Amino acid sequence: MNKIIDGKSTSLKIKEQLKVEVESFNIKPTLAVVQVGDNPASNVYIKSKEKATSVVGINFKHVKLLDDVSESELIENINELNNDSKITGIIVQLPIPKHLCERKVLDAISPLKDVDGLTATNMQKLITGDEGIIPSTPRGIMTLLNTYDIKLEGKHVVIVGRSNLVGKPLINLCLNENATVTICHSKTLDLKEHTKQADILIVAVGQKHLINKSMIKKDVVIIDVGINKEDGKLYGDVNFEDVYDTVSLITPVPKGVGPMTVAMLLKNVVDCYKKNIS
Ligand code: NAD
Repeated sequence: MNKIIDGKSTSLKIKEQLKVEVESFNIKPTLAVVQVGDNPASNVYIKSKEKATSVVGINFKHVKLLDDVSESELIENINELNNDSKITGIIVQLPIPKHLCERKVLDAISPLKDVDGLTATNMQKLITGDEGIIPSTPRGIMTLLNTYDIKLEGKHVVIVGRSNLVGKPLINLCLNENATVTICHSKTLDLKEHTKQADILIVAVGQKHLINKSMIKKDVVIIDVGINKEDGKLYGDVNFEDVYDTVSLITPVPKGVGPMTVAMLLKNVVDCYKKNIS
């Protein structure tokens, strides 16, 4: 029996739908990415965002600023993009240098163009259950669960990792689906005690093979968000081979959550476009 939750093929279908939708727009959406400095990893992520937008017909603008840019100059650049009607979505590529206040910079983005869903306004909407922009990775995870008809109501979801980007938004998204939610992090005393209770286990830590067979119960659904590079190969936070016989379903790494994150970023850009013109 195939136990793979295939993020790659699910994301391809979503991107095909988005491409058709974008073709029907007279004016094309534009995603702007603001980069401070020349971080090599950021360069790679930005290139892949540019490639992804071009596949579905979304325009791309890259604003690259020197790494000693002042906070006010950076915010001025963001404001220009906020006020530019041709710009649909804005991302400030993280991390940004230490002399800049990340919260202040992110909150300078118009919540209507905040396609990463990281402004305080959009994070708050997640908590209150109002319609806002959901960060791409959690949105991709919820879409995968829905696509594979995995119901959350009454289930015990255990999330490992509490970042603003992944773990924290998932708490509310899972609660909204009537799951019972446990969240674990680096200071959790006995991780295994919690992961063993999970009907659905979502792991977003960034530690190769943190989760093994001894830490899960039979027929658990595992969503592995982790991306760990070693000797040019990608590994998840879950030891896939070790747990495979025990799980009912699992996302692989690669071809699991990663491609869904990209597809959901594009969906967020298109959603913002539609909201801003209506
Ligand atoms: P982060 O570094 O911001 O957060 C990591 C979290 O893990 C923290 O909350 C920390 O408390 C927790 N943690 C650390 N050690 C732990 C331990 N031993 N036990 C339990 N919890 C522990 O990371 P992030 O941005 O959320 O990313 C996590 C991983 O997911 C990384 O590998 C990242 O590359 C990957 N990621 C993948 C995608 C994707 O699209 N697939 C998207 C975002 C992040």
